[in-house]
Amino acid sequence: MPPSDRGKHVQDRVYEASIADPESFWRQQAAHVHWHKQPSQVIRKGKKTLAKSRVTHDSWSWFPDGEISTTYNCVDRHVHNGNGDNVAIYWDSAVTGVKEKYTYKQLFNEVETLAGVLREEGVKKGDVVLIYMPMIPAALFAMLAIARLGAIHAVVFGGFSAAALAQRMEASRPRAIMTASCGIEGSKGPTAYKHLIEDAIEKSKFKPGKTIIWQRDELRWDPVLKENGQRNWQRLVKSARNRGLRADAVPVQSNDGLYIIYTSGTTGTPKGVLRTAGGHAVGLNFSIKYLFGIHGPSDVMFTASDVGWVVGHSYILYAPLLAGATTVLFEGKPVGCPDAGTFWRIINEYKVTTLFTAPTALRAIRREDPNNDFFRKTYGGNGGLKSLRALFLAGERSEPSIVQMYQKLLREFCAEGATVVDNWWSSESGSPISGIALSASAGEDFTSAHRDKALTTKPGSAGKAMPGFDVRVVDDEGNEVKRGEMGNIVLAVPLAPTAFTTLWEDDERFYKGYLKRFNGRWLDTGDAGFIDEDGYISIMSRADDVINVAAHRFSTGQIEQAITTHTGIAEAAVIGIPDELKGHLPFAFVTLSSQEHPESAVPSEKLVKEVQMLIREQIGAVASLGGMIQGKGIIPKTRSGKTLRRVLRELTENATHGAMDKEVAVPSTIEDREAVDIARGKVKEYFEKKGKDLHKATESRAKL
Ligand code: AMP
Repeated sequence: MPPSDRGKHVQDRVYEASIADPESFWRQQAAHVHWHKQPSQVIRKGKKTLAKSRVTHDSWSWFPDGEISTTYNCVDRHVHNGNGDNVAIYWDSAVTGVKEKYTYKQLFNEVETLAGVLREEGVKKGDVVLIYMPMIPAALFAMLAIARLGAIHAVVFGGFSAAALAQRMEASRPRAIMTASCGIEGSKGPTAYKHLIEDAIEKSKFKPGKTIIWQRDELRWDPVLKENGQRNWQRLVKSARNRGLRADAVPVQSNDGLYIIYTSGTTGTPKGVLRTAGGHAVGLNFSIKYLFGIHGPSDVMFTASDVGWVVGHSYILYAPLLAGATTVLFEGKPVGCPDAGTFWRIINEYKVTTLFTAPTALRAIRREDPNNDFFRKTYGGNGGLKSLRALFLAGERSEPSIVQMYQKLLREFCAEGATVVDNWWSSESGSPISGIALSASAGEDFTSAHRDKALTTKPGSAGKAMPGFDVRVVDDEGNEVKRGEMGNIVLAVPLAPTAFTTLWEDDERFYKGYLKRFNGRWLDTGDAGFIDEDGYISIMSRADDVINVAAHRFSTGQIEQAITTHTGIAEAAVIGIPDELKGHLPFAFVTLSSQEHPESAVPSEKLVKEVQMLIREQIGAVASLGGMIQGKGIIPKTRSGKTLRRVLRELTENATHGAMDKEVAVPSTIEDREAVDIARGKVKEYFEKKGKDLHKATESRAKL
């Protein structure tokens, strides 16, 4: 250790080493996965000239001449190492009441056989196979079996419409689809997939040859039309077993695709992020240990997400299995399955050490169980949550109030030193770009299972940059801003190994979507925020959601954060509305904490005043609201829990032009279409009561 590094926290030391000498840093990490052919080179940097636009930009690839099988690393390796009897997967289906358990040996057996089936059905190395599945073990078997053949999976969230599915089908041109007879969402009962899949195939210009269907007893796919390429999954597996059909792991080049994942695509056609095999395995294997503090068989990870999202890919499936740990696959919702105690029941039942979820799930739990009775009394009271060491949060901004609330609960009821870790990342990055590492010394000595004294967390911040991600904050010209100042969050290339290096068959769009804005100098994350003096990163909103009020730039997240410090407000979504004088004014949609929501869309004067005071105290008078609407269920979200501010903005802008009933563009990824109608109704009511003229509506603002 150089003398200048003494006294530095190990997370800071590791980070600096990764940026100063990426080659030796990642060479060390690459030694901890199994390569069918060892890479002789760590990173190859070059220039790429785009065929159409003739633009030349920096390109890079990780471990270019290595050959690897991700499935071998996730499954075979552990069985060969004598860990075959450890539990790989616990499946807990709160919607059907079914629970299952698979050891690594059993998983090996399932995956080997299913890969044999797929090979027989014509799937080859390099083919794409689309997965549209509920949260059942077969979905994980499918991902691993496809990867075992060196094919590429494209998982589409099993809740998207036929149109959304058709769009992704056309874009990825899969040889086959793997699906199930139904999905079961919350207490709604089963939703048949048959018509949805058939409809999507009908709509898509590209027709996959085979549809392999997992039959669920709750609702069967009937009839299975063989002439249309439909096959009964369980029957194929049974026949393969009878014949002893199995497939060995097929290694691929490090830079071959492991999977395609489509970004949530709130506008335009979804972007197919391509994940490459070698960098993914090395980077995830590193992150699960370093950041999550998960080292192997005694660790149980419960990632309450969906395999359709990147968090599900990385931390339900690949990372825990790369580590040889246990993963909990959960089918259900955080509330209503049957109650708001489900997550805590699971922690208790499977002795979960690490929970990973989105803040939106915790907000839903808080709404149903405002005093945390399930956490404190039902499960935590008798020491039932002591196994839990960490609660990881990602997907959107976590407001400090929710982080602090859980930090307190963890301290009181969970393992000693248990902590909440807000971590920031995206489909593009494949693993967290920032966070607080729980086993930072793994960055210096990977074989140690030491859990360090982690860096202090700062609620509202998503921690510090992770190794390999060179995070900067820049102005619109691409010049770095001072510490503490808000700006565009960008990354210097190359990115860390888990991250994308291009989009699926679309280099041109990769350049246009990410590099062009700053002329190839930085890769644009699309997020806005700041880095403080100590290097902590705060992600405040998407850059599109930055509001310019009288030449001051505010992020919606910043204002929402101030609003939700009001104890009477459960959730807030802020948008900017045009204003003749100031350019824009912040305008809020809020849901109240009380179970009973008042009828009126117009909040009481008292509430408005209190909120304005909070904004004034925490941000400044210039950010005070131009209006506020209250209502239950008025904040539309995507299926992955992200607030659709654009929809609220369009509704409000239409209202200010007197065009209240005009259609707004609703993305197919929306969770609940009803929320748009509720919001429309409330906006209408608000503007009828307040008058179209926003200056009138903002009188109270001027007075304050
Ligand atoms: P996705 O690719 O669908 O996972 O979405 C990625 C986006 O989610 C990021 O670009 C951020 O806007 C947002 N996001 C993810 N994690 C966080 C976090 N911890 N804090 C704030 N925003 C986040």
